[in-house]
Amino acid sequence: MTENFRLYIDGQFVDAQDGRTFDSINPYTGEVWARLADAGPADVERATLAAKRAFEPGSPWREMPGRDRGRLLAKLAGALDENAGRLARIESTDNGKLLREMAVQTSYLPRWYEYYGGLADKITGETIPSDRPNFLLYTQREPAGVVGMFIPWNSPLLLLTWKLAAALAAGCTVVIKPSEQAAASTAAFAQIVDEVGFPPGVLNVITADSIETSAALSASPHLDKIAFTGSSATGSAIVKSSADNLTRVMLELGGKSPNIVFADSDPAASANGVISGIFAAGGQTCIAGSRLVVERSIHDELVDRLAARAATIVLGDPMDPKTEMGPLATAAQLAKVTGMVSDARADGAQVRTGGRKSELGGFFYEPTILTGVRNDMVIAQEEVFGPVLAVIPFDGEEEAVAIANDSKYGLAAGVWTSNIQRAHRVAGKLRAGTVWVNSYRAVSYTAPFGGFGASGWGRESGPNAMEEFLETKTVWIELTGATRDPFVIG
Ligand code: NAD
Repeated sequence: MTENFRLYIDGQFVDAQDGRTFDSINPYTGEVWARLADAGPADVERATLAAKRAFEPGSPWREMPGRDRGRLLAKLAGALDENAGRLARIESTDNGKLLREMAVQTSYLPRWYEYYGGLADKITGETIPSDRPNFLLYTQREPAGVVGMFIPWNSPLLLLTWKLAAALAAGCTVVIKPSEQAAASTAAFAQIVDEVGFPPGVLNVITADSIETSAALSASPHLDKIAFTGSSATGSAIVKSSADNLTRVMLELGGKSPNIVFADSDPAASANGVISGIFAAGGQTCIAGSRLVVERSIHDELVDRLAARAATIVLGDPMDPKTEMGPLATAAQLAKVTGMVSDARADGAQVRTGGRKSELGGFFYEPTILTGVRNDMVIAQEEVFGPVLAVIPFDGEEEAVAIANDSKYGLAAGVWTSNIQRAHRVAGKLRAGTVWVNSYRAVSYTAPFGGFGASGWGRESGPNAMEEFLETKTVWIELTGATRDPFVIG
C-alpha cells in the first residue's frame, strides 16, 4: 500500500498549491512505496512567510520563555521515543538504510532534543567592562531568525536533528526541505511535531522533487540563515544563490576521510574500524573512511584481513536483522559508483575484492577494496559515496600525515595506533573536524561536528552549535547624561 505525505505549513498539513505529487521508490524492491506533495516556488513562499510571521516580535514563539521552549523540545524528545520504531521503518524503506542501524539512530535522536532543550533557558549575554566610565555595556544573544534547512538523503532524520534541535532551542523558526530522494521520514517527523504543540509556523516541512523548488528556498529573501547538509558542489550552489540576500550560510559537506593504520595498532580492532568506516551504510556517509592510509609493513596482512571480512559481508533486505549492507539508495548512485571504480582501474588501481554490481541485482554493489592507489588519483580525491575503499601505503608518520592532509576535504579521520604519544601527535596535525583514535564513526550530541576546507562551514552538536543560530546584540547605556561632540566618534 502506498503511504501519502503532505506538506506541513503554518501548523497545517496541506497539498502543494498546484496539487502535484511525486513518488518515492523503495531502493530494495525498486517499487513505489510512498507519494509525497511536490512543492513549488509558491509553496516555498507560503512556508517561508509562515516561518517569518511566527518569528515576528510579539508572536507566541518570540514571547515564549526559554524554559518553555526547552519543555517543548523535551516533549518532542518523548514523542520521538514513542515513534522511534515507526520512523526507523519509514527511513529504511525510503533510502535502504539498515533497520538495525536506523533503530539505534532513531532511539538516540531524542537525546539531541533533550540536550538542546536543556540549553534553551541558558542563553546568556555578557556584561562587558567598559573603557568609558559613563557607559554600561552588555550583550544579548538573540535568535538568528528564519532558518532554511536542506537535508541529504543518506541520513535524513539524524542530519535534520543535528540542526533543528539547536535552532529551535535558540528560538529560530524553520523551513525544512529534505532531499527528493528520501523525504518521507522528514514528512513523517512533521506529523509527530504537530502533536507536540509548537506554535503554527515555527516548523514547516516542504517536500519537492525539483531542484527549482530547492533553489527557490535557498534564494528566498525571507530567510535569515541557511543550514545545509549535502555535497560540496551543491553547497557551493547554495552559497551563490544566497549571495544576493547575503543570507548567512552554514555548510556540512562531503569528505574523503583517511583512516590511518600504523603497524603498532591492534590488528583485529583496526581492521574492524576500517570495515566500519567504509562499509557501514554501504559507504553512503559523509564520514566514510574511504582512504585507508596504511603503514607499508602491514599493508598485505591488513588488506588480506579486510578482503576476507568484505567477502563475508551479508548483503540483503535492509529490514532483515542479519543484513550488514543494504542496496545503494538510487540508480544514479549505483551508476556513479560503477563509473568511479571503472575509472580507478583505468588509472591503475587493482580490485582486490568486489568491484562490480552484486548478483542480487537491484541497486546492490559489492564491498570493494582497491589497492595500488596513489593519493593523486581521482578515486583518492573525490567522494564515491559508496562501498569503495582506496588503499594507499605509507612509510613513516610524516608521510601518513602528509597523505591524509593532501585533500580538499577535511571532515574526519581515523588513527589506529597503540602509541599514545603518536596518537596525540598525529591527531594534532590532521586537518579534519573530527579525529577518532582507535575508533571510527562515533557521534554524540555533546561533540561538535563539522569540517575543515571543502567539508564545510560551522559546527553542529555540542554546546557551541547554539552559536550558529544566535546573533549578538550590544547595548550601550549612557549613565551620566553628558552631552558629546556630535561630530566625533568614540
Ligand atoms: P545534494 O547536495 O545532492 O543534496 C542535498 C540537499 O540539497 C537536498 O535536499 C537537495 O534536494 C538539495 N539541493 C540539491 N541541489 C540544490 C540546489 N541547486 N539548490 C538548493 N538545494 C539543492 O546531496 P545528497 O546527494 O543528498 O547527499 C550526499 C552528500 O551529502 C554527500 O556529498 C555527503 O558527503 C554529504 N553529507 C554531508 C554530511 C555532513 O554532515 N558533513 C552528512 C551527510 C551527507
